[in-house]
Amino acid sequence: MKSTYLDFNATTPVRSEVVELMKNLMNKDFGNAGSRTHQSGLDAKKYVARAREQIAQVANCQVKEVIFTSGATESNNIALLGIADFGNRNNRKHIISSVTEHKAVLEPLEILAKNGFEVELIKPHQNGVISKEHIKSVLREDTLLVSLMHANNETGVLNEVNEVAQLLSNTSTFFHVDAAQTFAKTGLELSKEIDLISASAHKTYGPKGIGALVYRQTKDSCLKPIMVGGGQEQGLRPGTLPVSQIAGFGLAAELAALEAEDWNSACQKFKSHLMNELELLGASIAGDRQSALPNTLNVAIKDIDAEALIIMLKEICEIATGSACTSEQYEPSHVLTGMGLSNDQAQKHVRFSWSSDVDQKVVGTISERIKLLS
Ligand code: PLP
Repeated sequence: MKSTYLDFNATTPVRSEVVELMKNLMNKDFGNAGSRTHQSGLDAKKYVARAREQIAQVANCQVKEVIFTSGATESNNIALLGIADFGNRNNRKHIISSVTEHKAVLEPLEILAKNGFEVELIKPHQNGVISKEHIKSVLREDTLLVSLMHANNETGVLNEVNEVAQLLSNTSTFFHVDAAQTFAKTGLELSKEIDLISASAHKTYGPKGIGALVYRQTKDSCLKPIMVGGGQEQGLRPGTLPVSQIAGFGLAAELAALEAEDWNSACQKFKSHLMNELELLGASIAGDRQSALPNTLNVAIKDIDAEALIIMLKEICEIATGSACTSEQYEPSHVLTGMGLSNDQAQKHVRFSWSSDVDQKVVGTISERIKLLS
């Protein structure tokens, strides 16, 4: 029997409606959305326009504020590296973020720090949450940008991003939110006061290699392109538009948003079941229990090393130690150590993440296997 995939925060399958649409756009309606002189180009352009509307609807923004990118990594890079010029010109070099961010935020921030920006990485509360109070305590007149993730990919913990947006709304500080783990599928609304939002399709039953940056210019136009080329996407993300992926993303996001309520309740049911069973086996849970995604559980089971637990459960379920981008390295998670866990404790934690159609029966099998082997 195939092992149950429980690593949905790494990636999700592409839903069949999306596959069908994309197949058609890859070999039948395959035009270039930039071609002005024939019908194939105009048709492709319509698919892109439709997807832009679908993403704008989910993001609660205007269509002109949607910039298609290759995913949340690229969106983060455009937002963070693209704002440097504005900061330099206006002599605002202070940036606030947190130690628990994804590497796709931390690494661009390292580049900014090497280039004269003062990057302040705050530590969350022990439960992993970054609150409005955290930001308030370090916010300055010359703070250019605050960058916070909506939900943490390893623990599922939700930061107080809407409260932070409100705090920043009457300031000139820009606010960027990496919403890779929440966009569309969770139904969680993001404040219209957020200037920049990164989204990814492949966490939402869409294809890999496509995402978006929502770029609101209510305060100012703060971004300069980090790549140049054909001027697509308002010059911010040049390159031929991948029409099939863009259309697939639009449809996946629209459908996920429609199903968000069911997704939440089904995922939460599984979470309660899994959490109860594992706690009976002495599990300790990382991250807040309330302010967290319903599809993520980060746990250590007594003294079992994470790699040993993954192997122990290999035939039953596929789980991970943390971010897929860094899971090849056997290192303690920077998210967990950032929350105050020791290296030794952090190396015992694994992440379970699932979707709404997960089979509850796997919980019993997991629990039996742990009882047998530990
Ligand atoms: N940010 C977060 C919070 C993520 O979880 C991920 C993916 O794991 C990314 C960014 C990168 O997204 P993408 O794969 O679309 O580049």
